[in-house]
Amino acid sequence: MRYVSTRGQAPVLSFEEAMLTGLARDGGLYVPETVPTMPPGAIAALAGLSYEEAAFRVMRPFVGDAFTDAEFEAIIGRAYAGFNHAARAPLAQIGPNHFLLELFHGPTLAFKDFAMQLIGQLFQAALERSGQRVTIVGATSGDTGSAAIEAFRGLSNVDVFILFPEGRVSEVQRRQMTTPAEDNVHALALKGDFDDCQARLKDMFNHFEFRDAVGLAGVNSINWARVLAQVVYYFTAAVSLGAPHRPVRFTVPTGNFGDIFAGYIAQRMGLPVEKLVIATNQNDILHRALTGGAYETKGVAPSISPSMDIQVSSNFERALFEAYGRDGAAVAGQMEDLKSKGGFAISQGALEFLRETFASGRASEAETTDTIRATFAATGLTICPHTAVGVKVAADQPASAAPMVTLATAHPAKFPDAVEAATGARPPLPKSMADLYDRPERVSPVENDLAALEALINERRKR
Ligand SMILES: *Cc1c(COP(=O)(O)O)cnc(C)c1O
Repeated sequence: MRYVSTRGQAPVLSFEEAMLTGLARDGGLYVPETVPTMPPGAIAALAGLSYEEAAFRVMRPFVGDAFTDAEFEAIIGRAYAGFNHAARAPLAQIGPNHFLLELFHGPTLAFKDFAMQLIGQLFQAALERSGQRVTIVGATSGDTGSAAIEAFRGLSNVDVFILFPEGRVSEVQRRQMTTPAEDNVHALALKGDFDDCQARLKDMFNHFEFRDAVGLAGVNSINWARVLAQVVYYFTAAVSLGAPHRPVRFTVPTGNFGDIFAGYIAQRMGLPVEKLVIATNQNDILHRALTGGAYETKGVAPSISPSMDIQVSSNFERALFEAYGRDGAAVAGQMEDLKSKGGFAISQGALEFLRETFASGRASEAETTDTIRATFAATGLTICPHTAVGVKVAADQPASAAPMVTLATAHPAKFPDAVEAATGARPPLPKSMADLYDRPERVSPVENDLAALEALINERRKR
């Protein structure tokens, strides 16, 4: 299996190379050269398997010869051993034909753990074999950072630096990043918003001298291995609800478009997905793009679902690449316009392609709060604000016989203020994290400045 860049100019890489490098050298994102398909019989045969067994079958063709079957099985086993639910990604029914896919039973209580725990084990295995050392730098709106730190803390061949927007993550998110004591992890509070964090990260990757000197590796949702890990739960959920014999719909609370793009890959592999619904909060660039055809940034308004407070949705580039018939030059042109003019118009053909697969909707702050309250009243389940955005948008979709699955992307205890404001009750942290508020914090403030960041990383990393 080979991987090509969405901008058509970077070297073609193997799975292992694409995983270790993250962002392509032409500024693009890696995607598989061809998407392998799973025939209906193979999909049906996933029924009754453990999550790990299903994960092996779904992901195996993408990994090529990077790992043997036995190695890959062991990696998957270690990745999900720390989850708090035997099913890993269980379903809960919240209405007639409407289900929640609970993706918050991992160690940092958000769906990011599915990808990050796997990628931690994949990196460890690959680096041990090669004796290489890498510097992982990630940008986070909150959940990626804690998941990355949890996955890489204490690993011997890796230094991890996480940039988060100062004052714009929840206290639980911040503490999950600042309390691990291992000296290979570094939480950096950047003076700016999440888009600034993401922009500085991209700058670092495009500064080849620095990139090569520190062995820069990316684990943001632009990393193909993360998208791949997320493909699995679309299969397990759909099969539980009758796929491949019955089509299923998914609504996905979306920011960087990584999670929902994994759903698109599942569909391309042959899973009968009737619709993938993009759910945004008030930062609704993706909803506006899909409905109006213009992808235009207009600044971020902080919301109660902060992990979706974003204007530049990195993984959307992967969808554009498909929508433009895999024309890297066309994608590069649009990304150039985005950088120089703050936006671009999606061609009519590309827009029609996207609307075949994707629908979209947005939830305001008030609607999000109302949905947390109403879901609790109707079902007794407490949902996080990101999940609530999804539940609201899912409820707005046209009726269909296909079951609707809304991805529950975080545990409510990660966003206690928003939940308490809606329901009156503060959701407790799970036992494993009960002392989070008592642990000492370690964090370095940093200016929104590339040179300052690079200097700090160079000084702190181990050699
Ligand atoms: C990251 C995150 C999202 C958005 O996921 P993308 O893959 O960036 O679209 C939604 N909800 C929560 C809780 C998250 O942590």
